[in-house]
Amino acid sequence: MGLCDMCGRRSEDGLMISGAIVCGTCVGELQIVIEKRRAEGKPVEGVKIDREGFHKTYSGIDYLIRDVPAELINKALRRADVDGDSLRDLTVKAMKAYLMEKGGK
Ligand SMILES: [Zn+2]
Repeated sequence: MGLCDMCGRRSEDGLMISGAIVCGTCVGELQIVIEKRRAEGKPVEGVKIDREGFHKTYSGIDYLIRDVPAELINKALRRADVDGDSLRDLTVKAMKAYLMEKGGK
């Protein structure tokens, strides 16, 4: 179906909730947040909520990386897709492997 708006992982079982596409893993968390907002009388916009959840889970900073060799990224994404990893997962694993090899704090 596409990428989950909350966790960024590829999702075949994604559901559309209040304008957000979320995977089966994240749907429960999104529903809890929506119910809490309704109880508080706050607006319920799935896309806005999932972005907040995503940024709460992760750093909240987006990065744009230019000029990645197309052959390299396409090969990596095909492999990541087989493993169920998102581009984010792949990037984090690559950074961890780099630090393991080079060291760093
Ligand atoms: Zn998800």
